[in-house]
Amino acid sequence: LFVDGPLAAGQSVRIEGAQAHYLVNVLRLGAGEAVELFDGASGGWRAEIVEAGKRAVLLDVVAQERVQAMPPDVWLLFAPIKKARTDFIVEKATEMGVRRIRPVFTRYTNSERVRPDKLRAHCIEAAEQCGGTFVPELDAAAPLDRVLGDWPEDRRLMFCDETMVAETGLAALRDAGQGPWAILIGPEGGFAPEEAERIRAMPQAVSVTLGPRILRADTAAVAALTLWQAALGD
Ligand code: SAM
Repeated sequence: LFVDGPLAAGQSVRIEGAQAHYLVNVLRLGAGEAVELFDGASGGWRAEIVEAGKRAVLLDVVAQERVQAMPPDVWLLFAPIKKARTDFIVEKATEMGVRRIRPVFTRYTNSERVRPDKLRAHCIEAAEQCGGTFVPELDAAAPLDRVLGDWPEDRRLMFCDETMVAETGLAALRDAGQGPWAILIGPEGGFAPEEAERIRAMPQAVSVTLGPRILRADTAAVAALTLWQAALGD
């Protein structure tokens, strides 16, 4: 169960609302029973239920049970699309293990509204469902120009470019080698020509094709993460 951290042994935690309902009425847990808590950054902690009330459950954190296995240092940058599909992207990115998720506004991005608190809830849910304990950092949406403007020197950028015809997938990534990475996926309308030009001109950019067919942005995000894992995942 996710709790806003940080968690530590000996701490007492109070769970309310839907999470309390889940423990008491769905899992039918009671005093003395164990629950695994995670705060998204330090791993999994064993906690014991002290009191299981209708409205709240009190727990004592006993000890750390799982040390946080950090996912590879890869960010996912994507242009927000329709809400359900944006939710899908952040859920799959969390399951597949990214360190940081950065929604970016590009010239042809057509959905302005991105609610970081809602997206973070999807990341937490995805981490809980797949039994993970790491919740990616989630940035507020920012213009692509600004994000690229202060791009870290040492972070390579996997530019998923549907106009690439040559087979520049695995080989290009492998040649670029290990280290901090980011994956960039464009909006439904793709990147504007001047955007693509600017990205290609970056020394850190590695242009990559995800195959001969044009994928929807959410499909492309999963395909790109899979390709990156196949080439460089540890
Ligand atoms: N510009 C395309 C068009 O107008 O038909 C559509 C863009 S596609 C829906 C959204 C994003 O997914 C693209 O900007 C790109 O980042 C990624 N993408 C989709 N298919 C791809 C492919 N075959 N290779 C590389 N990237 C792809």
